[in-house]
Amino acid sequence: MFDPRTHVPAPAELAGRVIAITGASAGIGRAVALACAAHQANVILIGRNPAKLEAVHAEIAASGAPEAAIAVLDLEKALARDYDAVADAVLERYGRLDGLLHNAGLLGTLTPIEHYDVPTWCRVLHVNVTAAFALTQVLLPGLQKSEDASVLFTSSSVGRHGRAYWGAYAVSKFAIEGLSQVLAQELENVSRVRVNTLNPGRTRTAMRRAAYPAEDIDTLPLPAAHAAVYVALLGPASRGVTGQEFDAQA
Ligand code: NDP
Repeated sequence: MFDPRTHVPAPAELAGRVIAITGASAGIGRAVALACAAHQANVILIGRNPAKLEAVHAEIAASGAPEAAIAVLDLEKALARDYDAVADAVLERYGRLDGLLHNAGLLGTLTPIEHYDVPTWCRVLHVNVTAAFALTQVLLPGLQKSEDASVLFTSSSVGRHGRAYWGAYAVSKFAIEGLSQVLAQELENVSRVRVNTLNPGRTRTAMRRAAYPAEDIDTLPLPAAHAAVYVALLGPASRGVTGQEFDAQA
């Protein structure tokens, strides 16, 4: 059984690979972007805040890793032409895509369903599910040009077992598990694209702080602690593994 938690990546494990990461400006996405670059991937930083993306780009450049690229895309507001522009730019610059991490996410509010604000519900479902679907769809031709491509969706424990008050966020993560299973089946045996989900588990980020304001966040693992798991699932170590759900922590 493949377990990404036991994988120790080689220094140049992702050399020659082109890997796109949404929500690369902060938190887990930023840490995974830095780790993929450190393992020699060409990383495409996708996000809505150009200044934050440029800071990550500069950090990668300063480390001596392969040059990263930036694709500004606000997953709440993007229209079809914005998605097409990203896909065209990826194909023009690299000719293919070897990894796609859907990491960007919105928490929404922790509220009983009875009182959940409908516009917030729509925003969370749109950013967490519909945008991931739309981005996967436009990037699929590039992924199919890869010898061995990995699509990785970000799940959560509340996307596998429902929990009171987690509302749209929990429902969006259940939907991500469904999207991943459907896509994995559709692509199995007819392409070299594999599709899986990963639940990072409790991690020291702004989203976790918003969800648990009373918690001592310093006791939680930093995003970089999960880097090897992401590298395993985005890189050659997980070749042939598809349609599965993984956890970064026990
Ligand atoms: P953060 O809130 O720290 O980061 C979220 C990222 O998503 C940021 O880069 C943010 O960009 C981006 N983002 C949000 N909205 C949009 C948008 N409209 N368009 C483009 N990008 C957007 O969260 P985490 O790092 O904690 O979470 C990363 C993933 O891990 C999420 O999918 C989350 O659900 C999941 N997760 C996290 C856990 C945890 O304990 N932290 C536990 C389980 C799952 P910006 O910087 O511009 O705000």
